[in-house]
Amino acid sequence: MIKVAKEVNGTTLTLRLSGSIEETVNLDEMVGATPAEIRVDCKEITRINSVGVKGWIKYFQLLQSKNTKLTFFQCSTAIVEQINLISNFTCGGTVESIYVPFACTNCKAELIALFRTTDLNADAIQLPELKCTKCSGKAVFDDIEEEYFSFLSR
Ligand SMILES: [Zn+2]
Repeated sequence: MIKVAKEVNGTTLTLRLSGSIEETVNLDEMVGATPAEIRVDCKEITRINSVGVKGWIKYFQLLQSKNTKLTFFQCSTAIVEQINLISNFTCGGTVESIYVPFACTNCKAELIALFRTTDLNADAIQLPELKCTKCSGKAVFDDIEEEYFSFLSR
């Protein structure tokens, strides 16, 4: 199930989506009337399957056709995966920030860190080393660079 929390700030609507998108979700009905600018917080989206993706694209394409300014931020790793797989997943919107998976080289703990896409150079990704929150060991990027960041060079 997906939950939608709305926050209006002037002419901008922020949508905080949370949960898994695995069935036909009627975002149009859940969100209602929309202003000219929408920011979508994707931090809490844990999963999205092919049915969910269809509903997602249908909804955001509708907004795109209304010339809504779309920004996706705090994209979870599940969302980044889709952005990479499906070229029109963001329907003309901007990806402002993404979560990047790291793993501790010592205790194997997994952690995520938030990066602004403008701070990531598509041609030469340079990620800092993080300190593991559990054992203070060294945590390094834990995915395939060419895949996880491929949307940056579109
Ligand atoms: Zn550790």
